[in-house]
Amino acid sequence: MDPFGRTIDYLRVSVTDRCNERCLYCMPEGYKGWAQKPDHLTADEIVRVVAAACQLGFRKFRLTGGEPLLRTDIVDIARQMGAMAAVQSLGLSTNGTRLARVARELKEAGVTSVNISLDALDPATYRKVTGGNIEAALAGVQAALDAGFASVKLNCVLMRGVNEQEIGPLLDFAAERGLPLRFIELMPLTRTDVLSEANFLSVTEAMEMLSSRGRLIPQPEHHGGHGPARYYRLEPTGALVGFIGALTTPHFCETCNKLRLTADGKLRPCLGRHGEIDLLSSLRAGEDIPSILRQAIAAKPENHEFAELYQPGRPMTAIGG
Ligand code: SAM
Repeated sequence: MDPFGRTIDYLRVSVTDRCNERCLYCMPEGYKGWAQKPDHLTADEIVRVVAAACQLGFRKFRLTGGEPLLRTDIVDIARQMGAMAAVQSLGLSTNGTRLARVARELKEAGVTSVNISLDALDPATYRKVTGGNIEAALAGVQAALDAGFASVKLNCVLMRGVNEQEIGPLLDFAAERGLPLRFIELMPLTRTDVLSEANFLSVTEAMEMLSSRGRLIPQPEHHGGHGPARYYRLEPTGALVGFIGALTTPHFCETCNKLRLTADGKLRPCLGRHGEIDLLSSLRAGEDIPSILRQAIAAKPENHEFAELYQPGRPMTAIGG
């Protein structure tokens, strides 16, 4: 438990800070701050940290990045984590563009849930936001469905003037495939000019836009196991839509249950505050990992600082989403 009575049992493990896409909100243009190779956690080191976290009571894990599927040993990492009896849920966050080739192997390795970023369906808008190719991402969505993961969800970061016209089409796409779609408020995690007042679109506004398509019926039963999103069903299609309003939702942090492990071996107690604890040196010095995890839990702040003119230090791609 952290100092605010929250049970911390969810570790998000970034396996790389690199990505094959260039999302506007995640990686600053011309970014050169990549971690050097010797500073990257090896597969063995990641697995040791996960095992230590299990010892402390962590039960939920997610592989993320950067783009986790850029790591050639990702299936091996997933398999070793999936084999741990204490791991109840093993998620993967991906842009989907490389998922088609490994989806089945990941499922067999023990990955239970896959979240795929999908900020637009229109190819030009998708390219504008991510620098990537929508066809590859869609092939990834299909591969995730075919592989039969227990849960597949889609994530869309809201940007006014960029992808708000995609909200309706994305929801239709998700509903046709029976997939939950979450709309995420833009957080200040690249350069400050990317999170300008002009770009920011709140979840409340997104809900208002969707209300022209039908009534949004609250789904309180989906809140518990589904993290920070508030879920609704849109009549009449029954589409399940979630809203993650990190900046505008009061008490957003009250139910936070996470720690983050960065690809260069730092423990980050809060995405929206700068503090990090160096785990890499301790790991390589053979020190006790559970006690460092405990320190990170004890250092968890009550709230993020995003709405208080937070200046990003490391971008999202380096922290791990
Ligand atoms: N590459 C993978 C992916 O695309 O999901 C995993 C890493 S990505 C950083 C994880 C999630 O963080 C994605 O859903 C992405 O859209 C979200 N994200 C990144 N930067 C963000 C920001 N500034 N505000 C809100 N969400 C962000």
